[in-house]
Amino acid sequence: MKNKPMEISNLSLVVTDDCNFNCSYCFQKKEKKYMSQSTMEKAIAFFYPYLKKETESIFWGGEPLLAFDNIKYAVNLLQERNKQEKKKIKFYLTTNGSLLSEDKLVFFDRHGFDLMLSFDGLTQDTARKAGSSKRMPGLIKQVRKYPGIVFSVNSVFTPETIGYFSESLRYIIELGVPEIIVSLSSIHPWDQKALDILAKEYERLVEYLFSYYKETGNIPVNDFKIPEGPPRKGFVCLAGQNRMSVTPDEDIWGCYLFHDYLKQKKGSDDYRHYHFGKLDDFIKNHETRYPAVLANYSDLKQDMFFTEREHCFLCRDVEQCSTCPVNAAFSTALIGKIPPWLCDLNRIQRHAKERFLRWTASTPYKSKKKSE
Ligand code: SF4
Ligand code: SF4
Repeated sequence: MKNKPMEISNLSLVVTDDCNFNCSYCFQKKEKKYMSQSTMEKAIAFFYPYLKKETESIFWGGEPLLAFDNIKYAVNLLQERNKQEKKKIKFYLTTNGSLLSEDKLVFFDRHGFDLMLSFDGLTQDTARKAGSSKRMPGLIKQVRKYPGIVFSVNSVFTPETIGYFSESLRYIIELGVPEIIVSLSSIHPWDQKALDILAKEYERLVEYLFSYYKETGNIPVNDFKIPEGPPRKGFVCLAGQNRMSVTPDEDIWGCYLFHDYLKQKKGSDDYRHYHFGKLDDFIKNHETRYPAVLANYSDLKQDMFFTEREHCFLCRDVEQCSTCPVNAAFSTALIGKIPPWLCDLNRIQRHAKERFLRWTASTPYKSKKKSE
């Protein structure tokens, strides 16, 4: 059988493992490691020919803005290399915002960055960094002045902060954020009490979002967007399949999350199983190395995962479920093993979304201008 050629639509450069925050739920092991410009040169020269006509280029950290000069360097390299073929390369960056400044925003605006700000609303000072919430309203206003930046906020909640969930999202929406991605921390277990609070908080959020939608026609929380196209059947992790990631130590993984999880487990079976090798070695041997390691990634499908209660392929929710197997492994210590409370979290989120979509289907938004 012919090997699948490497075709990448998502290339991540982990520009640093360092961070100037110490968020309570962060799963990353911080190290003062920065990707060098020579690693960027090698990585971009090698991977460029394998990038598809439309590609996402992600700058990941730690806090990537600690390496802003190198991000600029990589963007320039990619654009220089892309002068002839003119592939559509879209840049992405997630930041805690502490180092954002006018000159950086001008750069992101010029290059059409998708900029995601990490901001937890009312729990920012306890969960992320004391005093860091003060600057956020002004910063959000400042970012929104740049039309070239696609702006969103990522908000994380834990069993300890979940009581502030709906109020926090409402606060962020009212600051004018057009899109919010909700992340529920999978580092610490969610007990029944926290799950009950989550269910109630989702009810409050759905009520607020519905009235907001009736008023504006907008749905600013990503999970609640009205789906386009036919429903997806069965989740597949795309690590290695169409995405690759390079780290400051020149390790190659199918997704940056493998780096975050496995860099603390060097020598483990999972490390050997999913590691594509070091950059120099991969450049020399990718024709054999890529298909050999990719075969290990191809097992990462929802129906291959399991919990201690059941196998996912026997679960009635398997077709609607999308669980990142690495995210789950931060809690179970095994890629593909899902903690049962993560299933409960997913179900609560899904039921809230179904309820919201039923409401919006029965009361579609009518623009005031049109109906006048
Ligand atoms: S809900 Fe849980 S058991 Fe069911 S498919 Fe999802 S992860 Fe697997
Ligand atoms: S499912 Fe998780 S590991 Fe797989 S590509 Fe997505 S984020 Fe990466």
